Amino acid sequence: MNTSPTDTQPRVAFLGLGHMGGPMAVNLVQAGVPVTGFDVVPAALDVARENGITVAESPQEAVRDAQVIITMFPSGQHVKDAYTGADGAEGLLAAAPAGATFLDCSTINISEAQEVANLAKEAGFKAAEAPVSGGVVGAQAGTLAFMVGAPDDVYQEIYPLLDIMGARIVHCGENGMGQAAKICNNMILGISMVAVSEAFVLAEKLGLEHQAMYDVVSKASGQCWALTTNCPVPGPVPTSPANNDYQPGFGGALMSKDLNLAVTAIEENGVSAQMGQLAAEIYQKFSEGEGARQDFSGIINTIREDSGDKK
Ligand code: NAD
Repeated sequence: MNTSPTDTQPRVAFLGLGHMGGPMAVNLVQAGVPVTGFDVVPAALDVARENGITVAESPQEAVRDAQVIITMFPSGQHVKDAYTGADGAEGLLAAAPAGATFLDCSTINISEAQEVANLAKEAGFKAAEAPVSGGVVGAQAGTLAFMVGAPDDVYQEIYPLLDIMGARIVHCGENGMGQAAKICNNMILGISMVAVSEAFVLAEKLGLEHQAMYDVVSKASGQCWALTTNCPVPGPVPTSPANNDYQPGFGGALMSKDLNLAVTAIEENGVSAQMGQLAAEIYQKFSEGEGARQDFSGIINTIREDSGDKK
């Protein structure tokens, strides 16, 4: 990881200083990268200022002098609105200086990622997307995994910045392919967490102890991350959120969001993916209830309740 300040660091504008973007921007500043930040929430700007980020009065001011413009927003609509300007405001594409590179780290639809990249290119800019995994802990520690969609030259340009904020960087292909990798991974994760949780509830009904099931399956063909790292029952994996009433972790609402992005891609591409669609329905319902506040492994409690059992 590059942590030594140099005069050659690009000037970065960072927009969206929330749970993820805030600590990512701080890591850049601490590595000597000059960062001008902006968020629509004043409290996020206060935290940024305390951490050495230069705070701009507006998104236009943030990007005016930037060489790399990073966005970390909740959804694709936020990214589109920011790039093109919403409610009559000047968009980032109009405000940015010639030669700038747009780097979107938000998790958004593949088609939206390609659309905003095309808008940037048509306006004469370079464009990349680099959605992340690793959560808030990874953002704070600078250990995120980045899945990059960009032409080769743009990937080379942004790599040193990603290397500061992350520990694993994979160039997945052209624009859109970073989102594709992220969404495919999280579809597997959502489906496998439901499968592991259903198996534990079945085991409970059959009288099979959690630890015995874990000891067998973790070394057998049912082994997967949802079981061995994020085990949905307390006990076998002491660091899993289940040991702490499903706090903290990867929220059910974020899993629901990612599965809905997968469903959009499934439908747009005519894929027969019944398990992915069913997982999206299951997590949509979960995210409207307890899943709004719990790690996504809390889905096991919904399965228990639907099976006529208490939590
Ligand atoms: P967040 O809601 O905490 O942060 C988003 C920030 O963007 C907010 O502070 C919001 O005020 C700001 N914002 C919205 N519109 C803006 C605009 N026009 N200009 C400036 N700021 C604006 O969300 P987050 O948890 O940081 O997630 C950001 C992205 O990262 C999402 O796409 C999410 O799916 C993805 N992600 C999150 C996690 C996680 O664990 N939180 C993990 C992986 C990926």
